[in-house]
Amino acid sequence: MGVLDPLIELLRGLGTTFKMALEKPVTYQYPEEKRPVRPRFRGRHVLKRYENGLEKCIGCSLCAAACPADAIFVEASENTDEKRFSPGERYASTYEINMLRCIYCGFCEDACPTEAIVLGDNYELSFYDRRSAIYTKEMLLEPVPSVEMTTPRKVEPGVFTRAVPEMKDPAD
Ligand code: SF4
Ligand code: SF4
Repeated sequence: MGVLDPLIELLRGLGTTFKMALEKPVTYQYPEEKRPVRPRFRGRHVLKRYENGLEKCIGCSLCAAACPADAIFVEASENTDEKRFSPGERYASTYEINMLRCIYCGFCEDACPTEAIVLGDNYELSFYDRRSAIYTKEMLLEPVPSVEMTTPRKVEPGVFTRAVPEMKDPAD
């Protein structure tokens, strides 16, 4: 090893440091800056509504049956036109997901006949205790843009009789 070798190594190292300092950073300054997710990313669930504000969930429990982690609990109750939550006979009076069990497989989304449960792009899930990991219907349900669209609400009799919407092409 020559007497100048340590100096050469030092200069090479500094060269690399200066080169990297001029390049665009690959890191994100989270939480101020959030990394965009991929199109098929599966994050925190959302319970969707129709455009008229009625809840898409009809309390059928197919998502719970499909869930391999047994993370979903659904309890259904009867709708009336005086107090309507969703189209059709029933709505989910209780809907809970245990996020500690969820493996984000998306089976619940695939099983849902009304496309009510959707895995969104929110990945900010952290809990301070186990109880906070149980996401309730109130936490999961999409907000309404105006107070008249909230559920439950009184609707015209005989209009919202169909639980699963008619689809032009079920393959869509
Ligand atoms: S994403 Fe998978 S594990 Fe999570 S609640 Fe849905 S079916 Fe269950
Ligand atoms: S989210 Fe879908 S599958 Fe689950 S209970 Fe509601 S309507 Fe049924």
